[in-house]
Amino acid sequence: MTARVADDVALGVRRVTAPNPSAMTGAGTQSYLVGSGDVVVVDPGPDDEAHLGCLVGEDVRYVLVTHDHDDHAAGARALARRCGAILLGPPGRPGREPDGVLADGDVVAVPGWRLSVLATPGHSARDVCYLLEAEPGSSPGSGRLLFSGDLVLGGSSTVVAAPDGDMALYLASLERLVALEPAVDVVAPGHGPLLAAGRAAIAGQLAHRRRREQEVLAALGRRGRATVAEIAAAVYPTVASGLADAAQLQTWAHLRKLVEDGSVTTLDPDDRTATFALA
Ligand SMILES: [Zn+2]
Repeated sequence: MTARVADDVALGVRRVTAPNPSAMTGAGTQSYLVGSGDVVVVDPGPDDEAHLGCLVGEDVRYVLVTHDHDDHAAGARALARRCGAILLGPPGRPGREPDGVLADGDVVAVPGWRLSVLATPGHSARDVCYLLEAEPGSSPGSGRLLFSGDLVLGGSSTVVAAPDGDMALYLASLERLVALEPAVDVVAPGHGPLLAAGRAAIAGQLAHRRRREQEVLAALGRRGRATVAEIAAAVYPTVASGLADAAQLQTWAHLRKLVEDGSVTTLDPDDRTATFALA
């Protein structure tokens, strides 16, 4: 295997891409290293020996995860153990709890840098993002960089897969990030390239998701009544076979949100095979 090295992507931030490329992960999960000397790792990625080996050569103080999906968090405990680091993040599934649970507004700091926790659920039930800022007086002009996990991706749109993914929460989380003052300058996503115009990129994702919602409503309007699978086929007619199930789960997430809004009805929004209709 080719040795992977950390790229400098922003002042104080380096990136290592994990060797887990797929239809869902793009070129692979991106792990980020913040600072020098005492270092924070954001999203250690899969439990892959070669990948974690690229992250351990530093004095890692904290290992942070954005959410509990395997491609972001499976290697977290192994990395923390190898580095003697503290594992922090949102609540994990049983058996994968962090050493410390982070909540909205918490701050993790290493010399020169502060990472503020933003609760941004939606892609999964308990996602957080980390907003990186230089400590006052150090690294002037470095701006505000958002580690977005899977909430905002580079070069593709996030999958919000029901039932763990929640479209209403997802849209609210994007709205919150768009409204941040001062604005996010750069987004460092879990997959795909860095997004230089941060706020505009987040607003673009929000607009995309709202357009999809309108397409779901239009497809339902044309049919009168339809299943998740029928609407997904209409809204995502050219989806690659590896993403067909994700397209259905995402369509289901849209429909569940529209049921909550009162614009769509169904007997049971928790039933993926149910029939949906305009209210
Ligand atoms: Zn994810």
